[in-house]
This record gives sequence, C-alpha cells and structure tokens, in this order.
Amino acid sequence: MSTDDADFVPPFCPNPRCQHHVAPRDWRWHAHGTYQRRASPRCIRRFRCAHCGRTFSTQTFSVTYWLRHPELPIAVFHRTLACSAFRQMSRESGVSHTTMMRLAARLGRHCLLYSEAHRPVGPIREPLVIDGFESFEFSQYHPIHLNLAVGARSHFLYAFTATELRRKGRMTDAQRSRREQLEARFGRPDPKSLELDVAELMRLAARQAQTLVVRSDEHPAYPRAFRRVPTLAIEHECTNSREPRTAANPLFPVNLADLLIRHGSANHKRETIAFSKRRQGAIERLAMLVVWRNHVKRFSETTGGPTPAMVLGLASRPRSLGEVLERRLFTSRIGSPEVLMRYYRRLVPTRRIPNGSTHALKYAF
Ligand SMILES: [Zn+2]
Repeated sequence: MSTDDADFVPPFCPNPRCQHHVAPRDWRWHAHGTYQRRASPRCIRRFRCAHCGRTFSTQTFSVTYWLRHPELPIAVFHRTLACSAFRQMSRESGVSHTTMMRLAARLGRHCLLYSEAHRPVGPIREPLVIDGFESFEFSQYHPIHLNLAVGARSHFLYAFTATELRRKGRMTDAQRSRREQLEARFGRPDPKSLELDVAELMRLAARQAQTLVVRSDEHPAYPRAFRRVPTLAIEHECTNSREPRTAANPLFPVNLADLLIRHGSANHKRETIAFSKRRQGAIERLAMLVVWRNHVKRFSETTGGPTPAMVLGLASRPRSLGEVLERRLFTSRIGSPEVLMRYYRRLVPTRRIPNGSTHALKYAF
C-alpha cells in the first residue's frame, strides 16, 4: 500500500479547487523536497502543483494518509470480514478500540467510494432481487433493515440502503410498555421509512431510465416504493417468503447475500454483544462487505470461479484487499448521489445516541 516508490508520479492535483484535480491533462508539478515520519516508509517525497501552488506528498494519495498506524488497514479489513469485534482487534494490534472504530469507519468510507468508482455504467442487463436484511441498532427496540439489490445472474450487489423500523412482532407486556416509554422519549420512525429507503435503493441501483424485472418477497411497501421511481418501468415478480430457501428459489441471490452478510459480520450475529450501536456503523461495515463480495471473493472458495464484477465484465480477475486499498479515493473526483454522501459524512442518526460523531475532517476527508 506504500506509495513511497521512487518512480511515483502524482496522478492529479489533490486540491479539489484546482482545475487539475479532475482534469490532470497538461498538469505540471515540481519536486518539493522530502520529509521524515515515524511510521514506515519513513522518507516521503513532496511535490508542489505548478498551477495552484498546493504542496502534497506521495502519502496524499495513500489510504494511510494521516494515519499513525499505516500497517493496520489491510489487517483490520481482513479481521472485520472474519467477524472480529473492535475490542478483539485492538487487543491484537495494541491500539485502543476507539482507534479501531475510527479506522473501520474510514475503511467503510473508502469502500463506499470504491463501489461508486467501480460500478457498472449503463442500464442493468439482468433482473434485480431485493430484500431487507434484518438487524438492529443500539438495542432490540430499534430494528433496522439493510435493503439490498442483487443481480439475479451476476450476484453483484448493486446498492444498499439502511432503514430504521418500529419494533413489531411478539412482545411481552413489559416489553410493550418499555417500547412506549422509549417512543415517548425518543420519537418513533417514520412509518413510510421503508418505502422511502427502498425507492432510494432502486434509484441507487439503476441510475438511468429503463425497464427492469425486480424480484422480491410480498412485502407491501415494495410496490409503493417502486411507484416513487417513475424513471423505472418495473415488472415486479413476488415470491412468498415461506418458499424453501434453496438455489431454485427466485430470491436465491439475495438469500445468499443475506447469508454471507450474517456469516461475515460480527455485528449481525444472533445473540451477540458486537451488534452495531449505530446504524451508521452497520452501513460502513456493510460497505466493506459489499466491496469484498463484488470484487474480491470468487464464486466458490473451493472451486474458484469469477467474482460478480468479472461476470459483469468490470474486471478480468479478482482484486486483492491490498489492491482495493491501493490508492486513496477523493469524494471530489467521484460524483456520488446525495444519499451516499450522507452515509460518507456519517449523518445517519441513531435516536438513542443524539451526539454520534460525524465525518467532517478538512484534510483527510
Ligand atoms: Zn493544483
């Protein structure tokens, strides 16, 4: 992941206000000395933009920009996918668990941008299978759905959104009155939240007007959500959720994605204490899993096969996590839809944590 190679050529000016940030053609820069840092690699080359005068270094283009422990990101990425909890990871690497949490959030942001930079362009050429992955934030009184849109043929995870829901289903009298207390104090989710977030999911998955086959269970919010996206002519195919969850089930691609999320995320295990305290954290962790699923993981761990990105013709071979983390990505160079920027800035609120941290750094944004 080091960018400290002698033949490193700065790819563009890192200053978002410089004309050579997005259009590096005919860009000129000068060498601007070196500096020493404590973490390895120690000697870092500096540069100066001949156009705007901004100085920067090889590190400016690295995922480890401004990190005190540049060796950690790949290890944390692996550990996250292997279901370690933050405190477990921090014990192994000797940093605090809050450092771990910040790093995981940064990796999540990187993965949001990575997915955006490596998504298929043009209309979707396969049916989409959608579903709400059930989990919760803070406590079981605050269920959430992670809405997923998966390609029926490629198994590519095109998009996801996160929705807070009202606790429903069987409850004891004590639980019911606890819910009432909590709702009186913290308010309750918008009853339309699922419909709105599934509409957002469809807009994120299919960016242009097209006809599209969408498969789902019989949740009544889905048809209402589709009507909110007039650019898509959706042919909706429903499957009863009580059908056996085999490979022959039309919802198999999304059922398999659910399974992989449950299998590869400590926060979504049943009866765990590593559950997400904030929906925001669940989003970041899911963003990492999506990149791994789409670009890194082959179809079968034993017999190999292509990644979903390869099936869509986006890549000719699987990426390694090291390659995914090779270069820092800039929001200013990757135009992202508003909902993704909300996720990126950590603006997803959790009722029970009114002052959750947001992401508003000036330099390592
Ligand atoms: Zn510049």
